[in-house]
Amino acid sequence: MSTIQSIRGMNDILPEDAGNWQWLEAIVRRVTHRYGYQEIRLPILEPVALFQRAVGDSTDIVAKEMYDFHDKSGDHITLRPEGTSGCVRAVIEHGLCHNRTQRLWYQGPMFRYERPQKGRFRQFNQFGVETFGMAGADIDAELILMIHDIFRELGLGEHVRLELNSLGTPEERREHRKDLVAYLEKHRALLDEDSLRRLETNPLRVLDSKNPDMQEMIEAAPKLLDYLAEESASHFTRLRALLDEAGVAYVINPRLVRGLDYYTRTVFEWTTEALGSQGTVCGGGRYDGLVELFSGKPLPASGFAFGIERLLLLIETVGKLAPPSDAPDVVVTTATASLTVDAVLLGREIRHQFPTLKLLNDFTGAKLARQHQRALKSGCPLVLTLNEDNSIGVWAPADDQRSTVTRETLAGTLSKWMLNR
Ligand code: ATP
Ligand code: MG
Repeated sequence: MSTIQSIRGMNDILPEDAGNWQWLEAIVRRVTHRYGYQEIRLPILEPVALFQRAVGDSTDIVAKEMYDFHDKSGDHITLRPEGTSGCVRAVIEHGLCHNRTQRLWYQGPMFRYERPQKGRFRQFNQFGVETFGMAGADIDAELILMIHDIFRELGLGEHVRLELNSLGTPEERREHRKDLVAYLEKHRALLDEDSLRRLETNPLRVLDSKNPDMQEMIEAAPKLLDYLAEESASHFTRLRALLDEAGVAYVINPRLVRGLDYYTRTVFEWTTEALGSQGTVCGGGRYDGLVELFSGKPLPASGFAFGIERLLLLIETVGKLAPPSDAPDVVVTTATASLTVDAVLLGREIRHQFPTLKLLNDFTGAKLARQHQRALKSGCPLVLTLNEDNSIGVWAPADDQRSTVTRETLAGTLSKWMLNR
């Protein structure tokens, strides 16, 4: 009989790793909470048309990477490749921005039909933040400060680098595009296959190429930053001033264009050198035109997303993982198997009285010595043994202290033990 395995590029997160996820998620929730962001939970399936319109037909995500199919009634739907489009859809659908601003976050699986490799999967998890109704550089700076705080709490501050650029407005991009296309046509012989395709569909993205043979040519290409008019230029200057004031280091990368079409003005990426070509751990920026594309009404917006797997990989690579231990605080063992019911009630009583304790009952039915061995191996600092005369053995393996207490005096002993921990 052949065994059934998981689908390519889709990973199980095993119990031994779940602790790391919970630790990271707790930090991210704590920081976004501090900044007053609210959670929004969105469907995993969306109409294909949503991403075609929002992300753009010519992007890799929509052109090549969508995990799409026709459902039983023939509707063309897709597992979501990213979170921003669905969030914008929900904000419009429920009128969340009528006369108010929004600061939102979400988390969950995203799907891209890419070739699986280290740090690149078909199902991966993103944590994302989107803001609506705020047009200034101040909210762009707030997003960056928030990410900065998250990296600091994760112990990654020195391992990531912030890259910043402005993509201007669609008009400014059009001006730049004319000169860029002319420049690229002139150097057509140097372009690889991917870039020749992009030259037709989305020339700005040629600048994104990592092909080493093209770097010199790209370096000398016309820079969008030189095409910014007054308003975009001062938005960028103000953002830089805010970051300088806050002491957040960054580098200007005029070639940073991001893989999605919807960005305007501010774009940024946090990158690391520790993960090879999967070096982008967080990306974001401003997308002022996207809401209008769906609702006809303009609404400024900006946001970011990071890939959780890649962050955990980075944390592991630089050896900074510091999640809490998974060991129980207390294990309840029994002198004989007939005491199981009493042990369940004892465990329950302790859980109610000391709600912060993590307590496990040993239900293996093994001999007491085996139960103690197992408890020791789990790293548990306190082992209780329910005896036939209803007394309770208390054993702290670390200093090999043993005593015997009654049901009545157990609570006092546990309180004292917790205080001295
Ligand atoms: P890349 O250049 O690595 O393909 P991207 O530009 O496609 O990244 P975004 O669309 O900006 O990435 O998504 C934001 C983040 O999500 C990335 O920085 C990365 O951490 C993560 N991410 C994107 N695609 C994958 C994937 N296939 N597997 C794991 N994480 C991913
Ligand atoms: Mg990609």
